[in-house]
Amino acid sequence: MLSTPDDMLTTNQIIQWLEEVKDPEIPVLSLVDLGVITGIEINGQSVTVNMTPTFTGCPALDMMKQDVIDVLHKNGIADVNVVISFKEPWTSDKISEKGRNALKQFGLAPPPAGKNLFTDIDVLEHAACPRCGNTNTTLKNPFGPTLCRSIHYCEDCREAFEQFKPL
Ligand SMILES: [Zn+2]
Repeated sequence: MLSTPDDMLTTNQIIQWLEEVKDPEIPVLSLVDLGVITGIEINGQSVTVNMTPTFTGCPALDMMKQDVIDVLHKNGIADVNVVISFKEPWTSDKISEKGRNALKQFGLAPPPAGKNLFTDIDVLEHAACPRCGNTNTTLKNPFGPTLCRSIHYCEDCREAFEQFKPL
């Protein structure tokens, strides 16, 4: 059993552990940075993690859920509940600054912040190239290898790149 207050579970500690769980399709991006982890409740030694899925049918939800449970088990928390919540829909604005940088380093253009795909179609048409940052780009295919990515072509680099779609 825990003896000192220093050993008490904290939300920050749980988040630190959960940083280890990556998006199955983007191994550099943690679920925390993706903004999928939307709540943590600690009740004694029992932990409830709330997750809000991103794109329907995008990264395997069951797999992410299991990874969250596994990581917390590994850190000594036996009683883990994962609750999938749709209360507040996920948007690409929930991706943290760290997550956006990780996407760029991975060669994926991060989704433009604060934009709404349905009101601003330019966002998809003029994605910023993750290599040179230029928006002199052309949308090649709104549906990339997965539902959450679109394919673009940079006129300056003369190379294609993928963008994590804004939502
Ligand atoms: Zn470029």
